[in-house]
Amino acid sequence: MNAVATETCVPTADPTAMLNAFVSHIENDHDVALETDETGARYIENAGFRITLAATDAGLRIHLAGPNPNMMVFFKDAIAQHVAEFDEAIAKSLRWTGETSVTGDLPDNFRILTLKRKSSPMPGLVRATVTVEDETMFETDGLHLRLMLPANPGREPIWPSMGANGAPVWPQGEDSLHARYITIRHARPDDRELDLDVVSHGEGLISGWASGAEIGTEIGAMGPVGETVLPEAMDYLLIADQTGLPAVARFLETVSQDATGQVICEADGDLKAYLPETKFSVTAVPSVDFSRDMRAHVAQVLRPGTTGYALFLGEFQDAQALRKTFKGDLGLGKGQQISAAYWRRGEAGFEA
Ligand SMILES: Cc1cc2nc3c(=O)[nH]c(=O)nc-3n(C[C@H](O)[C@H](O)[C@H](O)COP(=O)(O)OP(=O)(O)OC[C@H]3O[C@@H](n4cnc5c(N)ncnc54)[C@H](O)[C@@H]3O)c2cc1C
Repeated sequence: MNAVATETCVPTADPTAMLNAFVSHIENDHDVALETDETGARYIENAGFRITLAATDAGLRIHLAGPNPNMMVFFKDAIAQHVAEFDEAIAKSLRWTGETSVTGDLPDNFRILTLKRKSSPMPGLVRATVTVEDETMFETDGLHLRLMLPANPGREPIWPSMGANGAPVWPQGEDSLHARYITIRHARPDDRELDLDVVSHGEGLISGWASGAEIGTEIGAMGPVGETVLPEAMDYLLIADQTGLPAVARFLETVSQDATGQVICEADGDLKAYLPETKFSVTAVPSVDFSRDMRAHVAQVLRPGTTGYALFLGEFQDAQALRKTFKGDLGLGKGQQISAAYWRRGEAGFEA
């Protein structure tokens, strides 16, 4: 796939205020530090992607560059949503240079997945193996898919379509979609298959789809998206509840053979068998009181000065607590730790 670069300018009377709001959102909510280039523009660079923000006389200039176009739909969607918080009309009026998507078409990174079979890789997880006709899905390496179903079960799906501002237009009202992220545990391009390991948490359309849908049922998906490789370190601390378990397994597939560390994950079955073989120590914390037991266990095994990178993936309150531990007790800064909320107890539709 070809490298892409595109740019827009958000017309605003106070570009510096908008720049500061973007920077503050990215740094505080996503815990990612922005650099400053020689012109004073702010940028983030990760996995070959670069987002640059600059306050100019004409407004806030936003430049996106990356190795493939797949992520661009997500970036443009997020940017349109943030601009809409300032002014909806301006968000709709955004135009990107070199835009190739056709207004009204399905987003380039949208595909239909068909449920092929189900299995249980671990008590509490359903493995939904899906097939995808479109082989271009496998051209981009990415960790997650945004799965979507009609929010009104049984209704004929109306999928998102591209807006002239480069961002998807999501159907509203009766036709609105229920969209949630799920990690791709395995991809088998030759068979055009993906394994999605979904927690059976008893509520929720996506969880219900994985547990209850009949073979042959279709689901919409945008992606893949998300970094598949952890920043380099010699010693890691990786913690997750069951929602983050597939991502931890993916990350462990890519760490160097010499890397060491600790994995502490929610599991009611054979965690070692679920994860790829590494030199990491592996601790399974049962679901029954994961939050309490995980935090107690983590407090016992902290290695300040040794742990070079720490990660938590799971429930919002746990993510808040672990972020404090990583920054405070382990003394890790931005880029050396991430604590991401994958869901929030009692709140449907939460997206970090
Ligand atoms: C980047 C990313 C990757 C993710 N990867 C995975 C993955 O691989 N597998 C996976 O199962 N989840 C994963 N998640 C989490 C998943 O998106 C959420 O759990 C989502 O809420 C599930 O949607 P739903 O339709 O089943 O439930 P929703 O409609 O969103 O929620 C309904 C109710 O269920 C509760 N709920 C949601 N999730 C859980 C849970 N795990 N346990 C208990 N209660 C819950 C909510 O608080 C709410 O009260 C990921 C999230 C992100 C952001």
